[in-house]
Amino acid sequence: MPEGDVVWRTARRLHQAQAGREVTACDLRWPSLATVDLTGRTVVEVVSAGKHLLTRLTATDDEPAVTLHSHLRMEGSWYVERTGERDGRRSASGIRAVLENAEWTAVGHKLGMLDLVATAHEDELVGHLGPDLLGPGWDPVEAEHRLLADPGRAVGEALLDQRVLAGVGTFYLAEACFLARLTPWTPVRDLPDPAKLIDLVHRLLDVNKERVDQVTTGDLRRGRQNYAHARSGLPCLRCAGTVRVAPVGVPPQDRTAFFCPGCQVGPTPTDDGRPQRPLGSSRRSGAAPAYRTRR
Ligand SMILES: [Zn+2]
Repeated sequence: MPEGDVVWRTARRLHQAQAGREVTACDLRWPSLATVDLTGRTVVEVVSAGKHLLTRLTATDDEPAVTLHSHLRMEGSWYVERTGERDGRRSASGIRAVLENAEWTAVGHKLGMLDLVATAHEDELVGHLGPDLLGPGWDPVEAEHRLLADPGRAVGEALLDQRVLAGVGTFYLAEACFLARLTPWTPVRDLPDPAKLIDLVHRLLDVNKERVDQVTTGDLRRGRQNYAHARSGLPCLRCAGTVRVAPVGVPPQDRTAFFCPGCQVGPTPTDDGRPQRPLGSSRRSGAAPAYRTRR
């Protein structure tokens, strides 16, 4: 799932291709927008807000300036191609939006969300978001305030909550918790330094926003680019123990959190309140690891 850095880069690419240019053809394949035609408007700018994309367009003689809002969700993307040259790499049936100008065509593919609002009313769609990790007004103090508002909540769940801070998905959740050496189930109240964790998350997204590969280890080699995410069952790059995965958050909103029991301290889903066993002694031979959230 695209996270804040990918969405930021998508917005930049769309902005480069569209800003200041008039829409010459428009096709929104979305039930609620089927009759909308943005032809004749000029794209003012394309910006990201957390994991949301906002394409702002000029007013017409009788309608106000509007914002086309999209969200990539699980597998959505926007790509740009030269007008008149369809690249054909992606299925035509997945196309949800086409905005064309004389030079470039922006295509929204398998988008998870598409809305149109008056630009003055953007807040109805993104006003609930916490500070945007890659936004021009990034506010770490406000993010910390929101993080600490629910002290009993698991830190992994709080980081994924876009109302706390906007831009984190399961990749940066896992990597930030690994680097902070805390399990994702650590209650917010037990964080030794909340401001430091927020700064870490911000730096991780910021350093990755310019590149296609998401790297948290400093090692660009395949298979060594990140510590925990999507590495369950593999040896930890730091301690050689086995990386695990378990849900964090409340069903049905729960998400996967990868972690290394050897490197990260704090509660885990099988934690029964007793001190954690030393590394290497916790696995009985042949027994599948059980991940049941303690109720
Ligand atoms: Zn480890």
